[in-house]
Amino acid sequence: MANDRYSRSPQPRRRGLFGNVRWGILLLFIGYGAWYWFSNRSVDPYTGESVLIDSGLDASQEKALGLQAYQQILAQERPVDPSTPVARDVRDIAQRLIAKVDVVETALAQEHGQQAQHFSRDFDWEVNVIESEQANAFCLPGGKMAVYTGLIPVARSRDAMAVVMGHEITHALLRHGAQRMAQQKLTQIGQMAGAASGMDPQQQQMVMAAMGYGYLLPYARTHETQADEVGLMLAAAACFDPREAVPLWERMGQASGGRSQPEFASTHPNPGTRIQNLQALIPKAMEYRQRFCESAR
Ligand SMILES: [Zn+2]
Repeated sequence: MANDRYSRSPQPRRRGLFGNVRWGILLLFIGYGAWYWFSNRSVDPYTGESVLIDSGLDASQEKALGLQAYQQILAQERPVDPSTPVARDVRDIAQRLIAKVDVVETALAQEHGQQAQHFSRDFDWEVNVIESEQANAFCLPGGKMAVYTGLIPVARSRDAMAVVMGHEITHALLRHGAQRMAQQKLTQIGQMAGAASGMDPQQQQMVMAAMGYGYLLPYARTHETQADEVGLMLAAAACFDPREAVPLWERMGQASGGRSQPEFASTHPNPGTRIQNLQALIPKAMEYRQRFCESAR
């Protein structure tokens, strides 16, 4: 029978792994994604790196988003009375760091052949201490910060506390939140592209996983490394001892062992690499201390 061949193989002809994809539609989305990418790139003055931040997002919107999140967090947590010694101490460290933001930005921008933008001059800085066992701290877009009481015994000294707070402040200065938002937008474009071009859920997952490993994860690690570096320069310029960073991260590694990782330890590949990076930065930090800390001269 002429049809024998077909009756023996009822399976439809395989068209390759992505044979079902409507490539024309996919290309349109890729074009849109590329347009979004290229039209929203700018150079960060602190690092000299090219970054992706939605140019439609201005400082006031970013501040409003940060404030909203901050109020929610404070409403859920137990903030410590601002007049207590611990809250005053933390506020004093924050003020010393914030006072050096402008000079450190100018110095780093110069090193990278950039102009300082002083984006953070519009920030409404505020710091609260939150009663909690967590060894954690954060700084939201727009300058709203918190330190958890669980961090105090791990930090042990004001120098180490300044290193952590400098790290957190840097996330806000470098607009890492806004960068994450732009990243999420790209991810959404990718998801829409997958669905609209007829990929099945499994294929979509494969593409998103590749994006995650190839792009999003290294990106998050880069943010941590940048926060370590710029934060260390801030702490040094504000007269704190940057050498305290190394034993601090060693203690931090022990403190977070087994339990869920605090923000500043979360996305870094390995604590040993982080400590090596910090050690390599100490000479530069000491130079910043010499230059910008009046009492160290
Ligand atoms: Zn961090």
